[in-house]
Amino acid sequence: MMNHRIFLLLALCLFSLQGVFAESNGVQEKRESYQGKTPKYVFYFIGDGFGLSQSNAAEAYMAAVKDKDGVVRMVMNTFPKQGFYTTYAQNRFITGSAAAGTALATGHKTSINTIGMDAAKQKPYKSIAEKARDHGYKVGVVTSVSLDHATPASFYAHRPSRNDYYDISVDLANSNFNFFGGGGIKHPEGDKKAKKSKSSAANMGLDSGEKINGGKKNSLQIAKKNGYTIVNSNDDFNKIKAGDDKIIAINEKLSGGKSLPYSIDQKEGALSLADYTQKAIDVLDNDQKGFFLMVEGGKIDWSCHANDAATAIKEVIQFDNAIQKAYAFYEAHPDETLIVVCGDHETGGLGLGFSGSHYHSAFKLLENQKNSYEVFSSKISKLKRKKASFDKVLKAVEENYGFNNGVKAMKLSDYELSQLKQAYDQSFGKGDKIENKDQYYQLYGSYEPITVTAGHILAQKAGIGWTTFSHTATPIPVRAIGSGSTLFEGYFDNTDLPKNIEVLMNL
Ligand SMILES: [Zn+2]
Repeated sequence: MMNHRIFLLLALCLFSLQGVFAESNGVQEKRESYQGKTPKYVFYFIGDGFGLSQSNAAEAYMAAVKDKDGVVRMVMNTFPKQGFYTTYAQNRFITGSAAAGTALATGHKTSINTIGMDAAKQKPYKSIAEKARDHGYKVGVVTSVSLDHATPASFYAHRPSRNDYYDISVDLANSNFNFFGGGGIKHPEGDKKAKKSKSSAANMGLDSGEKINGGKKNSLQIAKKNGYTIVNSNDDFNKIKAGDDKIIAINEKLSGGKSLPYSIDQKEGALSLADYTQKAIDVLDNDQKGFFLMVEGGKIDWSCHANDAATAIKEVIQFDNAIQKAYAFYEAHPDETLIVVCGDHETGGLGLGFSGSHYHSAFKLLENQKNSYEVFSSKISKLKRKKASFDKVLKAVEENYGFNNGVKAMKLSDYELSQLKQAYDQSFGKGDKIENKDQYYQLYGSYEPITVTAGHILAQKAGIGWTTFSHTATPIPVRAIGSGSTLFEGYFDNTDLPKNIEVLMNL
């Protein structure tokens, strides 16, 4: 007869074991028993603010503009392995890009705003990119935002705050990575109040002396001393070829925050995230050992913060265009390549439905928007300086968003007109001022009131609703293809992604 105490002990053991499995969902066991191939080429795509609704909205839009029902699949969503993961930070349920970037780069949870260090901001955590470098892989970092922004920084920097831009750019200069491409460096001189200048070189902090601000050395000069070539024109970019090494390629034209202009605003012939991704492949694919390339679609997040659906969808499509470059590489090296596509968190609480539009979706209407909220807000600023009337401003709104263009679905209702008029009053200091700060924030966030209202109205006509100007905590999907992609199936945590890659690359 079984002793009661033994039975109790056994039950307790089983119970606690079940607890372990419940927490890891078997992902750790799967990782540790992996017997498959080691990928030689690893692509790690991170969409900032890129949740499942952003992905599905882009696919619905792609179908709608072709007058098709349902969705047109993006390349990333044809990948055979998918999983989901939680994103919470160590000290907050809704994460931010620094904590999420650190989790995705190092496999460790950390506190909000911390880059590549523990939650107490004492101990540095090595990223998989640094480990890959130390194991002889070539390493590249590409992003549509500035190169020292939180997500890319998590792969090479170790700093207590994501806002330590100068220190982060010094870490970049000392990283010894082989290729950086995309946006600029925010504060290469350590001067956070750098003088505004219209020249593109000044915009990138390239035209000033070596030492300023208490003798701090310009971080781009440090990079040069460390053997980097800094490229900041399309002509020089086009000359970069296989065999070149230690390149920092900064886009010729930068918009707010030293980022690439939004896809929706880009002029014909401008370099895109896909061009930077292809160039990174050309430079990195030059070694027996292989490479690790991280590519961030950074402005999905920014446009979702601003609740600008049309701009966000075009950023997602551009992100997928970059993934297509990796996919073409995978097709040429199918047994040696791994592509992982994920996101750091969702932004905006994007819902593919809205109370006012009931069960109706009309994604095609988003096609009417000409420029991003960023470009349109600067137009409004000009009109403000001219003290323009509501009718004049409304005309500009109609022109940018396509309202009242003769198509029935684009006609502004009385209620929508009143929302725009209220926004005009707030922005231009006329009529009744909204005194309640909570009410004001919930309507406009920290954005230009007319722009954000027009963006909301267009989204709602398309059947899209936003719940926040911040991030949300919804779990994020990962898609994978190639050697080791099987480890990315299941439901796990964001820290599992780099742990999987680390095991697969034998780092
Ligand atoms: Zn964000």
